[in-house]
Amino acid sequence: MRRYDASEIEPKWVERWEAEGLYRASEDPADPRPRFYALDMFSYPSGDLHMGHAEAYSGGDAVARFAAMRGHNVLHPVGWDAFGLPAENAAIKRGIHPKEWTYANIDQQARSFRRMGMSFDWTRRLNTSDPEYYRWTQWLFLRLFERGLAYRKNAPVNWCPKDATVLANEQVINGACERCGTPVVRRDLTQWFFKITDYAQRLLDDMESLDWPERVMTMQRNWIGRSEGASVTFEIAETGDAVEVFTTRPDTLWGVTFFVFALEHPLVPKLADAGGTESGAGAMLEALRTMPLVTREQADSREGIRLGVHAVNPVNGEKVPVFVAPYVLMEYGTGAVMGVPAHDQRDFEFARAHDLPIRVVVQPEGEQRDPDAMTQAYDHDGVMVNSGPFDGVRSPESIERVTAWLEEQGKGRPAVTYRLRDWLISRQRYWGAPIPIVHCPEHGEVAVPDDQLPVLLPDDVDFRPGGESPLARQQGFVNTVCPIGGEPAKRDTDTMDTFVDSAWYYYRYCSPKDETRPFDPAEVDRWMPVDQYIGGVEHAILHLLYCRFFTKVLFDMGMIGFTEPMLRLMNQGQVIFDGASMSKSRGNLVEPMPLVERWGADTMRLNILFAGPFEDDIDWKLIAPDPDRRPGVTTWLGRVFTAVGEACERDAPDPETLRRLTHRTIRAVTDDMERFRFNVAISKLQVLTNGMRSALDAGDGAREAASALTQLLAPLAPFAAEELWREVLGNGSSVHTSAWPEFDEALARQERVTLVVQVDGKVRDRIEVDSDAGEEACRGLALASDKARHALDGREIVKVIVRAPRLVNLVTAR
Ligand SMILES: [Zn+2]
Ligand SMILES: [Zn+2]
Repeated sequence: MRRYDASEIEPKWVERWEAEGLYRASEDPADPRPRFYALDMFSYPSGDLHMGHAEAYSGGDAVARFAAMRGHNVLHPVGWDAFGLPAENAAIKRGIHPKEWTYANIDQQARSFRRMGMSFDWTRRLNTSDPEYYRWTQWLFLRLFERGLAYRKNAPVNWCPKDATVLANEQVINGACERCGTPVVRRDLTQWFFKITDYAQRLLDDMESLDWPERVMTMQRNWIGRSEGASVTFEIAETGDAVEVFTTRPDTLWGVTFFVFALEHPLVPKLADAGGTESGAGAMLEALRTMPLVTREQADSREGIRLGVHAVNPVNGEKVPVFVAPYVLMEYGTGAVMGVPAHDQRDFEFARAHDLPIRVVVQPEGEQRDPDAMTQAYDHDGVMVNSGPFDGVRSPESIERVTAWLEEQGKGRPAVTYRLRDWLISRQRYWGAPIPIVHCPEHGEVAVPDDQLPVLLPDDVDFRPGGESPLARQQGFVNTVCPIGGEPAKRDTDTMDTFVDSAWYYYRYCSPKDETRPFDPAEVDRWMPVDQYIGGVEHAILHLLYCRFFTKVLFDMGMIGFTEPMLRLMNQGQVIFDGASMSKSRGNLVEPMPLVERWGADTMRLNILFAGPFEDDIDWKLIAPDPDRRPGVTTWLGRVFTAVGEACERDAPDPETLRRLTHRTIRAVTDDMERFRFNVAISKLQVLTNGMRSALDAGDGAREAASALTQLLAPLAPFAAEELWREVLGNGSSVHTSAWPEFDEALARQERVTLVVQVDGKVRDRIEVDSDAGEEACRGLALASDKARHALDGREIVKVIVRAPRLVNLVTAR
């Protein structure tokens, strides 16, 4: 009898699978199998694999293996998101070169992935920091540059003082750096941006076609932040300047009692001059110069100063005072807003602080609001009042009618705005893909010609962060000649955000060795879009939005024939410890690889997948508090080994009850695997194991059950299943290329039992029902029974007693 011993079987199969090329995607265009692209979010090489990797990749691997056994030609690639801050910071801390540190970690992670038995096609492996890869990142940058989608502008940006680099808006979480948690500050710098805002509406519209978690789509919708309303033009009385504002509530225009500019609005100096208030405005501007935009958004809404000029309300010709205030941002809308204190809370607070009139122009139905008694703004629907020709018109119709009227009068027009800003992609750091632009005194920004790519990242650079780009210190890199006229010129010294690298890596997997282009369109056409993407929800508005943006740009360039890169998305939960996220500083870090060495990779996977629904967080303290104690799933695998072994030594056929259980299990587990309910699938396999045990103990056979159990186990515990399939059950080829077991409809059908229907304790009907029929179903069937109704003869039922699935008693008043 073969005992289960992970340390004996797992390393053996790692080598045999590799030698057999088991997980290589077939490149034969004539391969008749439907293709399936299973993609895991690739890894940052900032250390060895952590628990989050172990969880995500266990799920992703189960998906890929299941697809293969279901007859697909599977592409399940692996690579590394190898540029970027985490690796660079870790290297600096250790005093070694980021390249050395990064590639050492990649080697370590690759060894760990192999040890865990991940079904990767290693022949397609890529690192974004390889020149063979970033050459094409640079090539794609240039295509965006040609199309006007990559541009440089001076703008206030988020600056992380610790990392000494700018951050995209998406990388600022609650006012702090996404990487290190340091509060960001504001700087005005000339930076490169990608014009993702051109794609805002398409990014919203195309979400319709995605099978993604609702949570992720909601986060993207909110981030893009579309609002509909009207654009209205005010005039400055003293200077005659026309200023546009955007409002979602044009029906409140008659309630405007002041007007506010952002500090950075280009008209502010001129207006302060006209109003004689330059010194006050200048001081405020100075004070706010270093305040980050994210903080400004939450700024005290009462702060602000008068400019001394007036804005003319286009709907009634009223002149209202003009202010500058920190809560108005140049980055959103037009940098100017109208103040309607009765119907906007922030305006309300501002008006109270500055003693400005509050005028109610929308009343709640059947109520009167008195401005003096109001303690907060009324921002809901209602009836327009004090609004000239529109008195009595109700919202939401009022918004439409006022907008149409504004347009007729030439005072405004319908408008849509988005919260989404352009994607800031330049970084003042070393470890990234250089931006392939040359700055020429004669010709300005000049693209490096395609045949001179890649612009190599030099190795011999003082890469410590210092505010300027480290590449700027390397004269050999900086000084070059203009590709157009040959004049002395300087290279751009910023590097690209690592999110640019990861925005397109899944295209490269389709033809990773192509030396003439980023990807072969025919191969992309064959494999993409990605059928199943697996990764963390923390990428909802960064990576996942950028991937969708890049895909739309590639579509517009005619390079691909689809507009969404990933059809299905699955987010795994986090692995936490004792209710808190794991970290070294908290001292609750559990690393997966030592446990893999101790328990075996299959036990590690089963432990994770069995812990709960895949999308929920796993608390490691609850599932494996003591590494010295053998987890329950190991004991179960031991029982599987014994049962399968014994089954092979029996000639007797599987008994009827076991056959029914086997086929029911195949049906149920197939369904569970399709819905990523790995934990439920595992518990059903445990029930089947118990069924086999009973049959064997009764002297019956269990060979059919043994074979099915082994196959159903294969995506979840690939080593144990392979050992049983080939060495115990004696099959000639891998369980992972075997066909997923089919179930027999008749056998899989639920067992039927007889439901007795009584009326006042007398048997009136007998109905066949599923053995798992519940209370509701039994009650319904009994009440619908003709025989029971006949027996009732019109009497009223006062009570229904149900003992599902065997008995229902209908009790009458009599
Ligand atoms: Zn930082
Ligand atoms: Zn030039």
